[in-house]
Amino acid sequence: MDTTIPFVHRVSPAEADAWLAALRDAAPELSIVDFARLSDAERASARVAIAANPDASALRTLPELRWIQSLWAGVEGIVQELADLPVPIVRMQDPQMAETMAEAVLTWTLYLHRDMPRYFRQQLLSQWLQHPVRLARERRVGILGLGKLGTAAAQVLCQHGFHVSGWSGSEKSAAFATYWGTDGLYQLLSLSDIVIVLAPLTEATRGLLDARALSVLPQGASVINFARGALIDDQALLQALDAGHLSHAVLDVFTQEPLPAHSAFWQHAKITVLPHVSAPTNKPTACAIVARQLRNYFSTGAIPAAVDRSRGY
Ligand code: NAP
Repeated sequence: MDTTIPFVHRVSPAEADAWLAALRDAAPELSIVDFARLSDAERASARVAIAANPDASALRTLPELRWIQSLWAGVEGIVQELADLPVPIVRMQDPQMAETMAEAVLTWTLYLHRDMPRYFRQQLLSQWLQHPVRLARERRVGILGLGKLGTAAAQVLCQHGFHVSGWSGSEKSAAFATYWGTDGLYQLLSLSDIVIVLAPLTEATRGLLDARALSVLPQGASVINFARGALIDDQALLQALDAGHLSHAVLDVFTQEPLPAHSAFWQHAKITVLPHVSAPTNKPTACAIVARQLRNYFSTGAIPAAVDRSRGY
């Protein structure tokens, strides 16, 4: 079997080189080649492609393709663009990414919990004003999405004493309160001082936090979005912040990235903008996982568990 593996991407040339170097370090015996440098023969016989924000039309030029390994955990773009191509898409599932995301969740939950946005605004006004400190166990944190990342985040927040609840599509049992389905969503939101979005973007979750859902959050609640921008209705969020119903939003992801210069989010006093940095793929650990899966495929023919196309994640 030909073991040439195209790397199909739309990242900068420097980033592509860094990925290729890391992939070749992890799997020196395999021939991983930038899609642009593939020969016609290699293109005709490639069975696996490694993808990083790929151009779907490039993947369609590989007639023998059996599966696609994504280097990203979120695969909504490729799932949508390849809706008619029945090739399994395997997303990145790296325990290191879950750990990094849990760290980001803890960082920004503490930021909100300890009133940092308020003290920042006070400093700008040279105001010395002390506010009561709430205990972590009195702070209710709701996590939307109890997958690899949401579960890791919930565990870290529990360890730090927060009052954690989680929401998923199917029933779950955990050491913290769990909710599921539409009714469960509204229950969880009504009990969350801080809500953290960690669900994938699918047709079912697009606009999940709309005006109605945001109105269910308690007065003064905050939102952290580390999943995908389109899970939140931007206008509804701005209205809820401006009306004083919500106190702050920490946003790492946006419907359009990079966030356009004209976006109202940049200058908004109640919004923290992060440039999609909560849990970037870590090259060494991710490439070790990819190498293991590729080796296994070439020796046994086994394709790793793929995205469920009917659910979109
Ligand atoms: P995952 O393991 O697939 O988990 C997804 C969770 O969301 C599951 O608990 C699932 O419920 C729940 N869910 C999906 N659709 C739902 C719906 N309609 N209603 C209720 N719950 C629903 O995903 P993950 O690895 O944790 O990653 C989550 C997302 O994080 C990714 O899709 C990606 O967009 C984002 N991400 C962001 C960054 C960043 O740097 N900002 C980095 C990595 C990933 P079930 O358990 O019932 O299936």
